[in-house]
Amino acid sequence: MPTPSIQLPQYDDGPSLDAATRIVHGSSPDAIYAHIPFCRHKCHYCDFYSLVDQRDRTGPFADRFELETEAIRDFIDTSKIRTAFVGGGTPTLLEPPLLARVLAAIGTIPKKTFDEFTVEANPETVSEAVAATLVAGGVDRVSLGCQSFQPDLLKTLERWHDPNVVPIAVERLRAAGIRRISLDLIFGIPGSTIEDWDRDLDAVLALEPDHLSCYGLVFEPGTPLAEKQRLGRIDAIDDSIESTMYDRTRERLAAEGFEQYEISNWARPGEACLHNLVYWEEGDWLAIGPAAAGNLGGIRYRNLPRLDDWLEGSGLSPVVNVDEPSAAVARGERLMLGLRLRRGIERAVVDDLVRGHAERQAAMGRHLDRGNLVWLDDRLRIADGSVMLADDILSDLL
Ligand code: SF4
Repeated sequence: MPTPSIQLPQYDDGPSLDAATRIVHGSSPDAIYAHIPFCRHKCHYCDFYSLVDQRDRTGPFADRFELETEAIRDFIDTSKIRTAFVGGGTPTLLEPPLLARVLAAIGTIPKKTFDEFTVEANPETVSEAVAATLVAGGVDRVSLGCQSFQPDLLKTLERWHDPNVVPIAVERLRAAGIRRISLDLIFGIPGSTIEDWDRDLDAVLALEPDHLSCYGLVFEPGTPLAEKQRLGRIDAIDDSIESTMYDRTRERLAAEGFEQYEISNWARPGEACLHNLVYWEEGDWLAIGPAAAGNLGGIRYRNLPRLDDWLEGSGLSPVVNVDEPSAAVARGERLMLGLRLRRGIERAVVDDLVRGHAERQAAMGRHLDRGNLVWLDDRLRIADGSVMLADDILSDLL
């Protein structure tokens, strides 16, 4: 734990490092998020910060990553850290010796082992060596991006993997000792049918994951997919079909023993993602790596999203997009995030979050009258039949 008498590292290349020092030093995160910005190919729906054809940068990346963790670990209170999540990008695209160094660097931050250590992986990158490296690095949970099992729909997304590699990847991870496996699917892909979606659900369930994330496709501005839509080369599927897909997901997964604990996430009992709960419960998390976003002491920030500039540094990442929301905005965001969770929010907390905010109270009243929000066991939640409208409801409450 830092004290005022500790000499902070000296930085000389700009004010954003001063901001990083102010935000990170003395913080007490619950979780760590590390961003690995390399991908084999850019999927057309993706707006995450990731770069292709950068193999020559992966070695320098590992060197720089270690320097960043060194700059962090002696200056934060590590006692609350419970989870780590390595996302991207495609973390498992790193060569195993480099992946091992990144995992080891993350492992040096807390003084005890993580309660949950997740790495995102793309199925085609999970070799036996990668799986063994994950286990040796302390990883106990892998989130595997499947998105679809239909080759034509993967092609629409410009997602480059053969669906047949997914069961092989799952088998390799399990054989190496990864017990907790989460699979991601995307519904509402242009050209998809309800039968396609049923087949995708069949395919993921056959792999017996303990966690599933099912997201509706979003045409993120600036992505090639959004551009194709703008040019009329591709059409979003009908809202009613997307809504039916979502309803089927909820019914099917409930019948299979999964609990929906968040709008887009289902888990077997006891297998909810602890790390993502930190986000939804507005905990504090530390960001490592270029473009990684963090939230510490009520301040949101993002590390510099430019790999070359990040590689030139030597300590903390310079930060950009520093946002310190007002108390009123922070309460609105807490309401919004809490309602993403299917267990909802306790009445006393809701009362606090809407107190003195007439517009928020009015929006809540409207959605209660319409049946979109309900009180259940003295907790406010989005009604079962209105979960598909969550984005609209939540933005009204913000
Ligand atoms: S693999 Fe993931 S991070 Fe990389 S481009 Fe595709 S969706 Fe984006």
